[in-house]
Amino acid sequence: MDGSNQYQAIIIGSGQGGTPLSMALAGAGLRTALIERTHVGGTCINEGCTPTKTMVASAKVASLARRGAGYGVHTGDIRLDMERVRQRKRDIVDSFRNGSQARLEKTRNLDLILGEASFTGPKSVLVRLNGGGQRVLTSEQIFINAGARPSVPELDGLKDVPFLNSTSIMELDSVPEHLTILGGGYVGLEFGQMFRRFGSRVTIVDSAGRMLRHEDVDVAAEVAAILNQDGIELVMNATAERVTQTGAEIHLTVCTGNECRVLTGSHLLVGTGRVPNTDGLNVSAAGIALDGRGFIQVNEKLETSVAGIFALGDIKGGPAFTHISYDDFRIIRTNLMERGNATTEGRLVPYTLYIDPQLGRIGLTEAQARAQNRHIRVAKMPMTYVARAVEVDESRGFMKAIVDGVDGQILGAAVLGVEGGEIMSMLQLAMMGKLPYTVLRDAVFAHPTLAESLNNLFTHFDS
Ligand SMILES: Cc1cc2nc3c(=O)[nH]c(=O)nc-3n(C[C@H](O)[C@H](O)[C@H](O)COP(=O)(O)OP(=O)(O)OC[C@H]3O[C@@H](n4cnc5c(N)ncnc54)[C@H](O)[C@@H]3O)c2cc1C
Repeated sequence: MDGSNQYQAIIIGSGQGGTPLSMALAGAGLRTALIERTHVGGTCINEGCTPTKTMVASAKVASLARRGAGYGVHTGDIRLDMERVRQRKRDIVDSFRNGSQARLEKTRNLDLILGEASFTGPKSVLVRLNGGGQRVLTSEQIFINAGARPSVPELDGLKDVPFLNSTSIMELDSVPEHLTILGGGYVGLEFGQMFRRFGSRVTIVDSAGRMLRHEDVDVAAEVAAILNQDGIELVMNATAERVTQTGAEIHLTVCTGNECRVLTGSHLLVGTGRVPNTDGLNVSAAGIALDGRGFIQVNEKLETSVAGIFALGDIKGGPAFTHISYDDFRIIRTNLMERGNATTEGRLVPYTLYIDPQLGRIGLTEAQARAQNRHIRVAKMPMTYVARAVEVDESRGFMKAIVDGVDGQILGAAVLGVEGGEIMSMLQLAMMGKLPYTVLRDAVFAHPTLAESLNNLFTHFDS
């Protein structure tokens, strides 16, 4: 490869969209540069999906070990070795990251450039190289996949205390005695239950009246009940006012109206959302339009306001999931390399909250469907009706599907139950194939699988 700075494609950020896109473009013969400032693979592999799910797995083992006697299996004292939990996490992350990096380095026509990129114009990017020095690269096509990072809320005293975020909490080498978590979103809930299972006392604080505001009330209430049952304290309707530290204790003052109280813990996790990494990109030099929260504005083909510049993944706002970033890559590949006409319009956005039991979600909630004034029917069934769940003694939660009252098609589902993400995906397949619910109700599934519960679910309608 020649050493010139003129490329046919530049990708900023090796996230879940940018990495496969760089290989596809290079594979098509375009001289391609992939610029990454930290580590290959982006958030998902290094700080998000992969490490959290390895640690969720450790937490599950801890929980099962404690419950062993109920299955007739007696163990000794349950002790948590956080250094081993962390090492297992690090090993899996390293293997994913190194595999990804090796594939990139082997790809012909592709330069992996480690450094921080910022725009100097609509077709030019300055890279401050991690190893020192800088390069100015130019290309007619630039793809931004620079992701997001944990936000730091404006909270009095926060900068003076050693708070954790979703990345640093996974590097702890011992179990916090009492973990206070600010924010009851997926970060707060997944880490909250995980550390409770590791042995911490856990308090989750949120300013909303209920957790999981985007989910149906019954789903959110059941999640809250499950977390309470696990011994997690939920403090809702509580606005954080200030944080202070005395010795090893961190004090968080929270108020509900005029009533304030101080929550004291040994560690504080701030999980109040994520902000886009646009601030370091100097997007104004290229004229790229941002929305009010700093996310890059794109149309349904992921084109930014500047011709030839595209954005993929979390940095464009909208649902922030790995599979969405990957699908953004597919849209761009289809349109630019296969002369297709793919868009983000109407794509299904499944997701899973990795508490135990999982919450798998797809399509409309009941509340959304009712707000659209649709004629719907709701099928709902507790997991205690699922033979497989009872057999493995994992029968917390329920499953629920929203069905069109006229043609019987499935509009959405929430599966809060053991392997809820997998069952949700079965319902997603039915939605993709536009199958009416009756096909699932009457299908022959292997017994005793979790999947066969769909036979039964669709005999449990509200009307
Ligand atoms: C704790 C946690 C758990 C999560 N769990 C899940 C899950 O279970 N399932 C799921 O679907 N999603 C999960 N997510 C979200 C998921 O990680 C992201 O949606 C996904 O990584 C997509 O990100 P992306 O492709 O937009 O970019 P990212 O993966 O964020 O990658 C962006 C890359 O750009 C680099 N970069 C940024 N600025 C520059 C610059 N100026 N120059 C060069 N490089 C730059 C960054 O270093 C980074 O490597 C989780 C996230 C977190 C934080």
